[in-house]
Amino acid sequence: MRITRREFLKISSAAIATLPVLGFDLTPAMAQIGEFRIKNVKPVPTICPYCGCGCGLVVYAADGKVIATEGDPDHPINQGSTCAKGAALYQIYDNPRRMRKPLYRAPYSNHWEEKDWDWVLDRIVERIKATRDKNFITKETVKVKDEKTGVERDVEINVNRTEAIATLGGAALDNEECYLYTKLARSLGVVYVEHQARL
Ligand code: SF4
Repeated sequence: MRITRREFLKISSAAIATLPVLGFDLTPAMAQIGEFRIKNVKPVPTICPYCGCGCGLVVYAADGKVIATEGDPDHPINQGSTCAKGAALYQIYDNPRRMRKPLYRAPYSNHWEEKDWDWVLDRIVERIKATRDKNFITKETVKVKDEKTGVERDVEINVNRTEAIATLGGAALDNEECYLYTKLARSLGVVYVEHQARL
């Protein structure tokens, strides 16, 4: 007999649901399984990187490996709960398709090359600087109305900005990181400062 995945899950759930009726109480066993897995492991708080809700999560790691992730019960936003995506956060770490090194595709190239982080960060800095310097606007002429006569005149003002760079913050950034990120953007003269949570 062929059983689909959906049917298998239905049968399994029904079988588990009947155990308490038969006098089996699985609560202590389930609690113990959860406890053994994370016993003596220090939880590290973090923020879910997926969407703008910014739910708090805790990561349990032992011997350099992530062994469990779950909603942070102390976090004011989600109070321990997660959506299905957040609950599967473990797969960011434990995934054979996870990219572990930056990939770079040179202009006009048809393939990606693996690079180390130092190389990539140096290129990003070089390009930000070059783009900013090439497109920096120091002054702009605006119309100003004379309060008495109502006549408009052109006035040159300092603007010191670049319109050639835009920044996009992510949900994984906390308040302080967003503050620093915005400071960096403003100090470069970037005026397009946006955040994923607003999109
Ligand atoms: S757990 Fe779900 S709702 Fe919460 S931030 Fe992650 S993706 Fe968004």
